[in-house]
Amino acid sequence: MGILDKIKKLLPKRKEPELKNNVPKERENIRKTFGVYCNSHHDTKDGKLCPKCTALLTTVMLRIQRCPYGIGKPICDRCETPCFGENQTKEFIEIMNAGQKKMLLSHPMMAVRHKIAKIGMDYAKMQRDKKTSEKQKEKDEKVKAQIANATRSPKNSTKSKSRKKKKR
Ligand SMILES: [Zn+2]
Repeated sequence: MGILDKIKKLLPKRKEPELKNNVPKERENIRKTFGVYCNSHHDTKDGKLCPKCTALLTTVMLRIQRCPYGIGKPICDRCETPCFGENQTKEFIEIMNAGQKKMLLSHPMMAVRHKIAKIGMDYAKMQRDKKTSEKQKEKDEKVKAQIANATRSPKNSTKSKSRKKKKR
């Protein structure tokens, strides 16, 4: 046994945080969704894809592998920094949205799981937006207060006092 191994044994084992790898399931879901979509829209059969859908799916699968978010990645059709390029992302999202309805019939469990993931992502985004808008509000209020303080000139207050005197 080398000395390094001995040292390693002495050190307390660090527990890696468990991260669920959702990528295989997502890939499967995307593949199936493309299948049902293409079969009903492009006159193909048995989950096989037309050349155009095949090309898009190939790009998507390649990019998922290199996703900068790693295995803890968000689902692709809810990603805020999609990496398929503008046009392909648009097509991809269209296919995913249209295909999910059909997926409910052919692969209900998969469709429901995907729907739940979507809702989770939407909820997280909503919470984040809420927080940032609250912070912005606080900032705005502070600026308003500062402006109000700056414009409140002492002259005004003396004027109102003198007016009061005249009335009497
Ligand atoms: Zn197709």
